[in-house]
Order: sequence, then C-alpha cells, then structure tokens
Amino acid sequence: MNAEIEARTAALPLAWRAASVVFFVVFAATLFGIYTRPVGFLASIWPANAVMLGLLLRNPAMAQTQGWIAGFAGFMAGDLLSGSPLDKAAILNLANLVSIGTAYAILIRLPPEICQLRQPVAMLWLVLSSLAGGFASGLIGGLASPIFWGGDILSGIVYWTAGEFVTYIAIVPVILSAPPFETISRYWYRLDLIKRADLAPAGAVVLSFIASLVIGGPGAVAFPVLALLWCGLTWPVFATAVLTLVFGVLALGVIASGLVTPMHGIPDKAALSSFRLGTSAIALVPITLAIVMHSRNELTEKLRYLASHDALTGVTNRAAFHEQATRRLALGNKCTALMMIDLDHFKSINDTWGHAAGDEVLRETARRIGQALRPGDLFARIGGEEFVVMVNAVTSAQAQSVAARLLSVISEQPVRVGEKSVLIAVTASIGLATARGGPGETPDALMQQADHALYRAKNGGRNQVVTEGMSEK
Ligand code: GH3
Ligand code: MG
Ligand code: MG
Repeated sequence: MNAEIEARTAALPLAWRAASVVFFVVFAATLFGIYTRPVGFLASIWPANAVMLGLLLRNPAMAQTQGWIAGFAGFMAGDLLSGSPLDKAAILNLANLVSIGTAYAILIRLPPEICQLRQPVAMLWLVLSSLAGGFASGLIGGLASPIFWGGDILSGIVYWTAGEFVTYIAIVPVILSAPPFETISRYWYRLDLIKRADLAPAGAVVLSFIASLVIGGPGAVAFPVLALLWCGLTWPVFATAVLTLVFGVLALGVIASGLVTPMHGIPDKAALSSFRLGTSAIALVPITLAIVMHSRNELTEKLRYLASHDALTGVTNRAAFHEQATRRLALGNKCTALMMIDLDHFKSINDTWGHAAGDEVLRETARRIGQALRPGDLFARIGGEEFVVMVNAVTSAQAQSVAARLLSVISEQPVRVGEKSVLIAVTASIGLATARGGPGETPDALMQQADHALYRAKNGGRNQVVTEGMSEK
C-alpha cells in the first residue's frame, strides 16, 4: 500500500510536467493554425491535432488525464486569445479532442512496433485511425456546421474528415519516427557525416517539383513520386517523413495559391479537398517504403549476426572464422599463429554439475579468452568445448606467450556457477601452429597442424601448450 502511494506521488509531478509540455505545444500549434489560415500558401494546415496525437503516442506520461486536460486547455487558450467566441471554440475543440482520442484509442492498442513505425503495415493503420478520428470529429463538426458556418452537414463531414486525414498522414509519421529528444544534439554534430550521394534524392524531389510547376496540369502533383520513392529506398524513415511533409506543404501551397492551375483559377473547396487527399496518398508511399527498407535492413543485419555467431557464447562461429581467417592468410607475408583450445575433461564437468553449469563454464571461458586478446585477433568457438584463436604479426615467441596467457586466464580462477555459486576448476590444452604467410597456406592446413599439437598436449597430461614442430614441455 505504502509503495503504491509512493509510486503515485512520484508519478504526479511527471504527469503534470508532461501535461505542461502538451499545453504549450498544443497552444503554439493552435496559434500557428489560426494565424496561417488566411495565408493561402499554407492551405490552412491545422497541425495541432496531429502534433498532440504524436506526442501522446510517444510519451505515455503525456497520455494521462492531466495531458488530455492540458491539451484541451491549450486548444481553448489559443482560440479564445485569437478572439473566437466561447461556444464555437468549445464545440470545435471538443471535436478536436474526439478526433485525437479516436485515433489514439486505435493506435495504442496495436503492438508497439506500429507506433514506432517499424512494421511495414504501420502506415495503413495510421490511415485507418486517421480516417476514424477524422470521421468522429467530422460528425461533430458536420452537425455544428449549419449553426456556425451555414454549410450543410454532409459536406461538413467530408471536408472535416479529409482535412484531419491529410494532416495526420503528413505530420504524425515525422513525430513517431523522430530520434529521441535527448539525442537530437548528437545528430547536429553528425550532419557532417551526410554524403553528397545522400542529397541526390532530395535534389531529384526539388527538380521534379520544379517540373510540375513548369509543366502543370492535373498530373503535376504526382511528378515527384519517383524522386520520393528514391528517398524511401535510401533514407531513414524520419528523413523521408520530413521530406514528404515538406513536399506536401509545398504542393498544397502551390495548388492553393493557384500557381499550378489544373482547374483554371484558384480551386474551390471540393477541388482543394481532392488535391489534399491525393497528396496524402502520394505521401504514404515513400514513408511505407522507408519503413519496409528499414525493417528489411534490420532483419538482414540480425540474420547476418546469427549466421556468423555462436548462440551460446556470442563469439564468432566456425564458418565466419573460416572466412575471416582465409582473408587474413591471403594478405600474406605476416607471421600468423593459430591456437586450438580444448577444455580438459569437460564431459566430467557436465556429468558432475549438469549441462547448464557446463554452458556457464563455456560462456565464462569465452569471455575470458575474448578479454585477453587484442581487437584485431580472431577468436571463434568451433565445437562443443573447442575454441580457436588467430593472431597476426607475431614472432613464434610472442605467439607462445599469448597461448600461455590464455591458458592462465582460463584456469587461474575457478568459474563461479549457478545460484549456489559452486566453484568449478577449469583447465585447457592448447595446440599452437605458426604460418609464415607463404602461398597456399589455408586455415584448414593450419588448423590441422594446431590440432595435431593439441592432441600431443592432451597426451602429455593436459593443461599445457604444445607448439607444432617442437617437443612437449
Ligand atoms: P578431453 O580432456 O579429452 O578434451 O575430454 P573432454 O571430456 O573435454 O572431451 P569430450 O570430447 O569427451 O567431451 C566433450 C563434451 O562437451 C561432451 C559434450 O556433451 C560436451 N558439450 C559439447 N557441447 C556442449 C555445450 O554446448 N554445452 C555443454 N554443457 N556441453 C557441451
Ligand atoms: Mg573436444
Ligand atoms: Mg575437451
């Protein structure tokens, strides 16, 4: 009970702090929406709902009751400050909250990967929830329409739903895919890492946008699609979402201002709605593609890791070692040493302490060997309790001292295992072979020599290093 009270009092300030952020952001976005309304260029973009939805989805602390109240207060403050009558502001902002609430209720129930834009179907869910949110608020807006604006209910619902859909699709992906706030400063320093080739897709978007201005006509809005697809293929989700937003705002701005006049003259409300919906449909494609590419790259990376690493110890596996060792040997002319390490009487460790304890010993041994090596050395688990190490640019004496060091880190401290902390003494035998970098030297040949030395180390009484070509010590 006490813990619960403590948790609540600790949570309070956080929820209120989060709510104050919601208030100020919604307030600012509301003012932005109100004061850009007369500017035809922005085609009355209303970012506040999308911004609040994005914030609440990303920050559970903001999605508490306090956050919703603060959001409503932010809307009302913005409206009242700019001279809206109270009843009109209350109805409009109620509709805004219903819109955000509906979309939020759908999205928050989905697996977190959807809201993190890590699943290819994420944008489809965003479409669905935006339409649902837009429609829910459209019902309120549509019913209020004849009272406040003198319009009819049906066109009120359609215009409202379309408007909500468009701003959600344009803005929410940017917020959901943005890097965490705390890490943004790091990104500024990394701007110098952007290569010229990375900017090419953005250049293509600009050029195709200019082409749509010059050529015009009903198809003009679709000209940048190819360039946007190029962005989706090569850019991260966040950058693609930002560029798509910029494209959407410019395209709508240009259309609204009548610069491109497919309908001759500044388009009417219905034509504008149609263009807005069309632009959103275009925006969905590059962002979806960026998500698909990102999840594909992540998956490939994961599979590549799994294919080249041992699941138990996390060190390189036999196949990957073979590949890396072949490349090392092909560089030639350097003295290369290879060590086969086999734990002694490992079967009896399993038999005495159990298989799980044996696994723990393997993990700990791999950790110790890894720590004793230099970054450029190759190290892999190539069998049950067998490891291999390859070190480059060493003399025969240096290689022997590396092997002796490995032998001592494996055995100097017994391994502490399990909840009862039993101590298990571990020793190993090491076979060492060296290559001079001559032609035709292969990892297999070297491993065979080291294996031979290892065999002699086992026969010589274990817990020792034997160098191929030398007699046992
Ligand atoms: P020697 O000193 O001659 O090397 O004796 P040994 O007992 O270490 O060698 P042997 O090859 O007879 O036994 C190796 C044992 O390693 C048998 C096998 O059950 C065990 N083993 C192989 N892979 C694993 C594993 O992933 N986890 C555990 N716990 N044991 C394993
Ligand atoms: Mg063995
Ligand atoms: Mg063994």
